[in-house]
Amino acid sequence: MQVVRGRLARRTVGFTESVIREMTRLCAQRGGINLAQGFPDFSAPAEIKEAAKRAIDADVNQYAITWGAPSLRRALAASYGDLYGMAVDPETMLTVTCGATEAMISTLLAIVDPGDEVVVLEPFYENYGPDAAICGAVPVYVPLRPPEDAFDPDELRRAFGPKTKAIIVNTPNNPTGRVLTSAELEVIADLCREHDAVAITDEIYEHIRYDGEHIPIATLPGMAERTVTISGASKTFSVTGWRVGWIVAPAELTGGIRKVHDFVTVGAPAPLQEAIAAALAMGPAYREKLAREYRARRDLLHGALTEAGFAPRLPEGAYYVLCDISRFGFDDDTAFAHWLVREVGVAGVPGSSFYSRRELGKHLIRFTFCKTEGLLREAGERLRRTEELVRSTR
Ligand code: GLN
Repeated sequence: MQVVRGRLARRTVGFTESVIREMTRLCAQRGGINLAQGFPDFSAPAEIKEAAKRAIDADVNQYAITWGAPSLRRALAASYGDLYGMAVDPETMLTVTCGATEAMISTLLAIVDPGDEVVVLEPFYENYGPDAAICGAVPVYVPLRPPEDAFDPDELRRAFGPKTKAIIVNTPNNPTGRVLTSAELEVIADLCREHDAVAITDEIYEHIRYDGEHIPIATLPGMAERTVTISGASKTFSVTGWRVGWIVAPAELTGGIRKVHDFVTVGAPAPLQEAIAAALAMGPAYREKLAREYRARRDLLHGALTEAGFAPRLPEGAYYVLCDISRFGFDDDTAFAHWLVREVGVAGVPGSSFYSRRELGKHLIRFTFCKTEGLLREAGERLRRTEELVRSTR
């Protein structure tokens, strides 16, 4: 008998649609306030929009060099040197990608063989699960334990073994808002050195911080040779739709990563790479203003959520607040998030989408505060009615 095979490959079966983007769609249908997907509703800086227009007018409209426009790679190398003292050779150690999202999957495809283990701190940004599945990697989850959302060093040690190829290090962290301390990074670095594992970072929120210092793990002793540092323009310059990210890695790893990147994407948008090269020259005053404005947004939403009974965690970095929803009496976070967008008119992301097993996050919801003050105030007003609406509609 002929075996009828499904049309879809097995690798697609394990993952669902992105819950974050699903919530955005639901919110649009309901006309709610979207505090689900983390994209700013305010303008990108005029300087960078002008630079993009200039590049298009100057006909920078064809493919850039596959691993990145020389101007952007030079600007990035200088910036990593100035900010963190990292010695980055723009010719051999940098790859410009279509966002940090592509950077992560291209890196994993380049360094992980099917069956290799990749350590992931949990809760984690929802893409890492499907990323691992696409590569055939076996994710090994280690909890960030509340209330501090810190990992237990012994537990992390037990997660490393002969099959460990890499660990994903996301700081400032989405969704918890944790900024890992140098002591925590030391523990991770020790294990990487001991097990000859690679640290793959996601530092996309590096300049959105309220407390603590951002330390790229690549700057720790012996780590430059075993770290893939990922970041991008989306969050720092409020241009999530431009899809410009980058990877700093030792030349040997960069060689492999560039091949994957080339065959999957050919390259990131050429004129926008020129604009980001110009944006990097805006320097510390721009970054300080960015962090200051985000702090005001954080305090506004955090205050409103506290008043509304959401038990929010105060983030040290990134632009999300993770909240405990236990007191509202729902036993499922997805049911709560759907109810909230329908009845209260505010969208958040159900906590379970940041965990390997749904039950671990079913008492949580994540809201983003990368929105204008007016919108956050309006969201706060609506959220304040949650308790009352729970009582009257259920
Ligand atoms: N990084 C953003 C978030 O976590 C958006 C990502 C996405 O669209 N999945 O909300």
